[in-house]
Amino acid sequence: MNAGRILLLACYELGHQPLSLAWPLTVLQEAGFPAEGRDLSIEAFPEEAVVQASFVGIAVPMHTALRLGVEAAARVRTLNPQAHLCFYGLYAWLNADYLLGDDDLAGRPLADSVIAGEYEAPLLALVQALAAGGDASAVPGVTTLAGRGHPHLERLALPMPNRAALPALDQYAHFVHGGRHVAAGYVEASRGCLHTCRHCPIVPVYGGRFFVVPAETVLADIRQQVAAGAGHITFGDPDFLNGPGHVLKIARALHAEFPEVTFDFTTKVEHILEKRHVFPELRRLGAAFVVSAFESLSDEVLARLEKGHTAADLDLALEILEAADLPVQPTWVAFTPWTTLDDYLAMLAWIRTRGLIPHVPAVQLALRLLVPPGSALLTEIGDWRLEMNQSLISNLQSPISLFGPLESANFGYAWRHPDACMDQLQEQVATVAQAAANNPQADPYQTFAAVERLAYQVAGRPAPAWSPPARPAAPPPRLTEDWFC
Ligand code: SF4
Repeated sequence: MNAGRILLLACYELGHQPLSLAWPLTVLQEAGFPAEGRDLSIEAFPEEAVVQASFVGIAVPMHTALRLGVEAAARVRTLNPQAHLCFYGLYAWLNADYLLGDDDLAGRPLADSVIAGEYEAPLLALVQALAAGGDASAVPGVTTLAGRGHPHLERLALPMPNRAALPALDQYAHFVHGGRHVAAGYVEASRGCLHTCRHCPIVPVYGGRFFVVPAETVLADIRQQVAAGAGHITFGDPDFLNGPGHVLKIARALHAEFPEVTFDFTTKVEHILEKRHVFPELRRLGAAFVVSAFESLSDEVLARLEKGHTAADLDLALEILEAADLPVQPTWVAFTPWTTLDDYLAMLAWIRTRGLIPHVPAVQLALRLLVPPGSALLTEIGDWRLEMNQSLISNLQSPISLFGPLESANFGYAWRHPDACMDQLQEQVATVAQAAANNPQADPYQTFAAVERLAYQVAGRPAPAWSPPARPAAPPPRLTEDWFC
């Protein structure tokens, strides 16, 4: 690699200032490389910097980021075919075959290399090797067409991420509640996950491992974001309660130093039940809401996904959070190949009867199970085929046939539901959800009622009669960017 600029691009991270730029940029800069980054969700595509770059890294921690990242890579290839192009992050690993194999317009694969796991170390090693005229495929943790590496799974001594060159916090998602509208910072106290839910994109990369970030580093990162205007912090750990002692230490220190700063975090239902004693304290320390993957009202679907909870557990989780006065934003995998229409109706009824309509962004009611290449869903068939409804799925031979062919360019398997009505319903609900997302004045109750009418039309039954509360409660605490994958 000729001496030249090192450019990292982030594409989209749910409205957060991207740590996927801040951390690797800091590591590269501390090693003496004058790296720079751009967040394409906020900033214009940097044509001049791309032309001058010898190395371009594209961060793809989620499906949407990969879709945008592939478009960015094609532009990079056109503008600067000589630059080494590396995709890094979860979805780079899952889609390595596509990224390294498919030719783009310039006749080369989209990527020269792919890195995943605790990627900062192999990314630095790759840049160092290329700068010394070395071979990318010889760098441990780096996958190329010539050689497949592994996700890098060693704990790193991560520095405090330097955010100075990133777009200002006020350009990202804000926290909104009760007249409070403040910039939201974003930190990670851990990466990876202890659990192995079969649909989760983290599992094929981390395989049930997680790595904590030192509390002092997290707190220093919080401090710099509060100084930059953050009044709320999102803990982006895949599951905040994988290491409860670690995060309680951080939350206590955060509250002691910034008692006015609120925070949100994500944790699984199993943890809500098992670690119920921590929620009152987290609430006292400033937790404003919790995101939790409730996923489904079907025990069969929950078992297929190996979520570690049952439908009955959802009410227990709700009770625990209500007792702690901690609002929940439940997330759902509303459509899977196993979800029946009755399951979907049960989910809607549960949300409505628990008073959670304003807590569930409409996009959640339309989400389809994503099955990326390498998904744990594609392995270990187990005996679940034997239990399935054979009248619906009579020709099932393997999970692959259930999930349909791999559509590499769409980064996943194009599964169709055995009952075509469910796919049509999903498309209709997605249209309603998109319209709601495009309309800031959309009433969540009306949107929910529209979804419910669609579902009952498919069922051939009248939708239940209900009315929104005469005096709806104040909207629940939320971020201005909804969670999805
Ligand atoms: S608990 Fe959450 S982050 Fe962890 S494997 Fe399950 S879905 Fe993924």
